[in-house]
This record gives sequence, structure tokens and C-alpha cells, in this order.
Amino acid sequence: CGGNQSPAAKVLKVGAEATFPPFEFQEENSKEYVGFDVDIMKAIGKQMGMEVQIVNTGFDGLIPALEGSQIDAIASAMTITDERAKKVNFSKPYYKSGLSIVVKSDNVTINNFKELEGKRIAVQIGTTGAEAVKKIKDAKVREYNSASEAYLELKADGADAVVNDLPVNEYYLAKGGSKDAKLVGEVLNAEEYGIAVAKKDTELAGKINKALDEIKQNGEYAKIYEQWFGK
Ligand code: GLN
Repeated sequence: CGGNQSPAAKVLKVGAEATFPPFEFQEENSKEYVGFDVDIMKAIGKQMGMEVQIVNTGFDGLIPALEGSQIDAIASAMTITDERAKKVNFSKPYYKSGLSIVVKSDNVTINNFKELEGKRIAVQIGTTGAEAVKKIKDAKVREYNSASEAYLELKADGADAVVNDLPVNEYYLAKGGSKDAKLVGEVLNAEEYGIAVAKKDTELAGKINKALDEIKQNGEYAKIYEQWFGK
């Protein structure tokens, strides 16, 4: 490059399981990574003077990729849990979520988590949804690599219900899923998403938290939130 060009911004490699709209997914034509998490990470990167590069990784492979230094951070609608916090450092929470149930529109037997007992439940592998349904009595849990495969299984009557993060269920229904499926029951235990970094990367964790505070103060966070979740 030319001598009077500014040096290329440092790259922040961010792992995400990119079939999880509206948080991280690929634009149909351009294949560009888009979504709430992608925009939040770009805004954080901007504050840090870094360029964000999304690395599409299976959800259950994200923490191993971080531990193996293939990525610098995870932003993948990842719920902060004690179990995960043993392996990674989480930022402050950046989004409040919770688990909910989707069933076929004509299903009258499942109206809440209690009524999932003995039922076939499709979930995404390695998620809090998968953990939660494994505790349900006699549940036949089917794990898929992506949430979209879980919805397909419900559609094909291979499962009686999908348990997944509420905003993702809502997005699925809003984008056409509501033709033959619906949301039922209460939202299970509030969850909070965090950005994960490697245990050893304490400096990066601090920088991300600072940038998160800054984008909340300068209105950028609210703008992005409005764009993905506003009316
Ligand atoms: N929030 C859920 C979890 O952390 C699901 C995340 C996801 O599938 N991307 O397990």
C-alpha cells in the first residue's frame, strides 16, 4: 500500500453461528453477515478502532474456537451462564432474552413448559434451550446444528415443539412461520446475552465493556436496537 495511507485497522475476529436471525445471519443475495449482534460488534469495533470480521462457526464450536485462539470474541446471542463463565470471560450483558415454545398452529395439547413432558422437542445443539428441555420428564430431545433445522423438523411433524430464544422464535413466526406455527406459554427464566472473550484476554474484555458503555451513551446502541426490534 501507499506510504501516506493510514495503516489498516486491526481486525477483531468475532465468532458467530450465523443462522440465528435477527441476531446473526447472512443476507440472501450478498451473503453479507447482518443482524443485531453484527451491528453491535461493528459499533464496538469502531469505538476500539478495529475492523470486525465475522467467523461463522457452529454454536457448540464457538467456545473451543475461542480457547484455540481461532477467534478473538464470540457474539452469538450467547447467554451468560455459570457453566460457560468457567471457560470464558463475558462482557456486561447487552441483551435480555428468554426461552419460549413454538408448536404447530393446530396443537392444543402443549400450552406451557409443563405440557412438554413426554413430547418430542427440537432444539439447537449446545444451547440453553437444549439444556432446559433435557430436564423435562420423559422429553424426547432432538438436537440440530441450527435453529432453522429445528423449525423444519416441527414443520415436518418430526417434533411436537421447538424450544428456542424468544426473539428468534418471534422472528421466525413473523417471517412466514406463523402460517402453520404459533408461540405458546410463558417465557422461561430471563437470560442475558454477553460477548465472550478468552480467559487470558482481560485487556480485551475491559475494552469491549468500555466500548459497550460508549455506544449506550452516544445513542448508537438504541439506534441499532430500534432497527432490529422497533416497530
Ligand atoms: N441464547 C442461547 C444460548 O446461549 C442460544 C444461542 C444461539 O443459539 N445462538 O444457548
